[in-house]
Amino acid sequence: MSFLPPTPPDGFRIGAIALVGAGPGAADLLTLRAVDRLKNADVVFYDRLVDPEVLALTGARKMFVGKTVGANEWPQHRIDRVIVAAALEGLRVVRLKSGDPSVFGRACEELEAARRAGIPVEIIPGITAASAAAASLGRALTERGQTERLILATATCKPGDTACVGAGFVPGTTLALYMAMHRLSSVEADLLATGAPEDCVVEFVQQAGTYAERFVTTTLRGMAAAATGLSNPAVILVRWPKTACTPTRAPALAALA
Ligand code: SAH
Repeated sequence: MSFLPPTPPDGFRIGAIALVGAGPGAADLLTLRAVDRLKNADVVFYDRLVDPEVLALTGARKMFVGKTVGANEWPQHRIDRVIVAAALEGLRVVRLKSGDPSVFGRACEELEAARRAGIPVEIIPGITAASAAAASLGRALTERGQTERLILATATCKPGDTACVGAGFVPGTTLALYMAMHRLSSVEADLLATGAPEDCVVEFVQQAGTYAERFVTTTLRGMAAAATGLSNPAVILVRWPKTACTPTRAPALAALA
């Protein structure tokens, strides 16, 4: 018996590309539609963070196009080229990305490359690391009356751009930080500079949603030191509730209110 929904109207067409969210790691956190595309693909191009358990679901040819740390043998323009070339050959192409393809996943370049070549392209959403982390912690990302804004931010921007992790961090916010583990001291300094209380709760979740997950709970002041021993992939949740303790200094936005 199949639990898969009927394939949507035009299904996974020959010569099409599906940008598929692999979720945080565990295969049972994939969507049914992602499983459908994996099962019907001719070729799957996958990233470093995609779990072998997820790859095992497809009988398609698999090609690793990830970046290994310190090397960049698969720059984005090369990935764009190979996925488009495979689709132009008439293959059903899955571009498999960890989490949700549209969250820090370079999806826009791949969508644009496909559309420029006249190739049908779709996004199959996945569970992003922040959602998996909150679920593992057994709590919500937003809480009515306390944290009514959720910011997903990366600490790693395009070379030359400065990551401004503190932008928009005001009382009532949960901040989920991706790709931040290599610059924790400056993240801590940037967040304290917003006026956020030193004792804001900070939670690190490494390998959220997998059997190897690890957690550290600490406070904003001292977060960099507390994370010693954790490594990537990890997401950081910083919670600044509306009824927080005394700010380190009056935040500019609060002063205007
Ligand atoms: N598209 C992905 C994010 C890719 S950017 C998503 O939606 O989740 C890569 C960053 O995502 C990592 O540096 C880490 O910060 C985060 N990440 C990815 N998988 C993770 C996991 N299982 N647990 C914790 N963080 C994860």
